[in-house]
Amino acid sequence: MLNNEGNQYDVAIVGGGLSGLSIACWLLDLATDRDQPMPSMCILEPRTEYENDRTWCFWQGVPNTFDSLVARRWSRWQVGFDGKYITQSSNQHAYAMLAAHDVYQYARDRISACSNTSLKLGIEVSELIDNPGAVEIITNHGRLRARVAIDSRPPGLDQMAAHKGFWQRFSGHEVYCPGHGLEIETATLMDFQACDDHVRFVYALPFDKERCLIEWTEFDPSGGTSDCSSNAMDWLRSQNWGKHEVLRTESGSLPMFPLQPRTQSPRIVNAGVGAGWMRPATGYQFATCQRVSKILAEQLLAAKKHGVWHLQQPKPRPDWLNWMDTIFLRALRRHPATAPRWFLSMFSGANAEQMVRFMNDEPRLSDALAIARTLPKTTFLKAAFSV
Ligand SMILES: Cc1cc2nc3c(=O)[nH]c(=O)nc-3n(C[C@H](O)[C@H](O)[C@H](O)COP(=O)(O)OP(=O)(O)OC[C@H]3O[C@@H](n4cnc5c(N)ncnc54)[C@H](O)[C@@H]3O)c2cc1C
Repeated sequence: MLNNEGNQYDVAIVGGGLSGLSIACWLLDLATDRDQPMPSMCILEPRTEYENDRTWCFWQGVPNTFDSLVARRWSRWQVGFDGKYITQSSNQHAYAMLAAHDVYQYARDRISACSNTSLKLGIEVSELIDNPGAVEIITNHGRLRARVAIDSRPPGLDQMAAHKGFWQRFSGHEVYCPGHGLEIETATLMDFQACDDHVRFVYALPFDKERCLIEWTEFDPSGGTSDCSSNAMDWLRSQNWGKHEVLRTESGSLPMFPLQPRTQSPRIVNAGVGAGWMRPATGYQFATCQRVSKILAEQLLAAKKHGVWHLQQPKPRPDWLNWMDTIFLRALRRHPATAPRWFLSMFSGANAEQMVRFMNDEPRLSDALAIARTLPKTTFLKAAFSV
């Protein structure tokens, strides 16, 4: 139970998923590196056990707290449609993959090794009350208080109801399939499947000659709950790779529209998908999450050092990039059948470094312009000037 006087922390992190654990690990790293006092911290997570429920991919470049856990790197990546593939590679960046169970275990070990941090499992938070001087946190096991709280709970239905946009739905199968014909140094980001009214593609990561992850993905404008697990298996069977065995599955439904932080308070900051950390146009969050978690960890260390507990909500990306993504998604909704050609055009017209910065959510304006130049002008101007 939490309801006793001892439940008073500098920082409470609500949700021990990617964002909550990233902030905690960055805080531990920076406090050690800079020899600064570590704020007392608790992380509140409803799960009682962690499962290997996903893989996180990103282009590795800027060091992050989980770098040592990278399980697989690909030196090349490609997109394809109608038998044509555009392949890119970079000397500076590999496409890297982390297994969720490695991240969860590493973070749990780091947190339990520090005397004034704790991860409390089986704790579901229902409310954060922004009282003067402290945040009161109401949970299924009582209350606790913290000087500041970081709320990384998934977005609520209220946050999403007003939006018109795609959902990125995907279903992935990690399979043992010695006959898979994939080239093992190349990650297939999008192998588009012809379709008049949906953007559909297969994402294929060969781990080695015998195992791969095959993910069927759809940009679904209906807001429905279509299940694409059978499509992934149908696609797999259509490849005639012979015998295969499913080792693990993962799936998701990610909002492809902009989400804004729910709270405006110096004591409560939002994090994760619900704070717009995930890029609506791509569904990627890992690289952004590391960058923004580090900024928040720096704010927390400064707050501890100076005794001033006021946080600022970090911005995951500049407004001009959000604007560009909104136009792109609008055009995609209107022209799903031609969209695959735009992706091929982007990956062939912009170079690998530009695409990596763009996909990792940190493009320069010149990268964005180089990419915009590869897209059909009239279609995108129409999308820019109409809602
Ligand atoms: C299967 C899958 C694969 C993905 N692959 C990639 C990828 O390759 N690359 C990439 O960049 N992105 C990927 N993403 C997108 C994104 O990176 C992940 O969704 C990521 O986990 C989001 O991090 P988060 O912290 O916002 O949410 P989560 O990791 O979902 O964490 C939210 C946490 O809040 C907890 N919580 C919920 N309710 C409460 C409550 N009431 N009180 C307290 N805690 C609560 C949850 O239990 C959870 O632990 C993937 C997503 C999925 C679903």
